[in-house]
Order: sequence, then C-alpha cells, then structure tokens
Amino acid sequence: MQASELSYFKEILESRKEQITKNIDSVNSELNQLNSLELNDEGDHASVNNNSMVESAIVQQQEQELEEIEVTLAKMTTGDYGICEMCEDDIGFQRLKVKPHAIYCIDCREIVEKSK
Ligand SMILES: [Zn+2]
Repeated sequence: MQASELSYFKEILESRKEQITKNIDSVNSELNQLNSLELNDEGDHASVNNNSMVESAIVQQQEQELEEIEVTLAKMTTGDYGICEMCEDDIGFQRLKVKPHAIYCIDCREIVEKSK
C-alpha cells in the first residue's frame, strides 16, 4: 500500500475513533443520569430500563468497533495494514474504502460470517 493511501485511511480511522469515543461518553453519561433518577412509577421504570438496554447495546457495539479501529491503527505502524488476517492477501482498496478497519478480505469475511 502506498503511503498516501495509508495516510488517507489513517485520517478516516482517527476521526472515526474520536467520534465513537465521544458517542460512548455521551451515552454513558446519559445512562448515569437515568440511573441516578429516582423512579417511583413502575411504568417509567420499565421504559427507562428498556432504553438503557438499547443504549448499552449501542455502546457495546461501538466499543467493539473502537477496539477494531485500535487494532487497525496498530497495524498501520507495523506495516500490516490492509492485509487479510486469514489468507494474508491484500484486502483491497475498494473494500477498505467501505470499511477501513476491515481485517479480512471479502472472501474470508464470508467464510467467517458463515462459520459463526
Ligand atoms: Zn482473506
């Protein structure tokens, strides 16, 4: 991969990382606020629980993505970026454009998805 391509993806990943970090922070502080509310009404309590379950799921998903981005950024420093973890082929520019933190090429991704 060329240095210009690498810095292009690095920029995307770093701004994505920043965005996710902010999202997680704001959802977490919202959850804390909800948790600190005193709720006497049963109905309210149920809906708050529901909301916080959805929000926790979002946070989990974003934390997962954040982790993947960290791994990918680390790969950039060692020169392993853009190489499939399974078959060690190039992941390909087009695929990385869609998902810059991809760790598998499109073929291996399908295999991984199917074996889940
Ligand atoms: Zn592969």
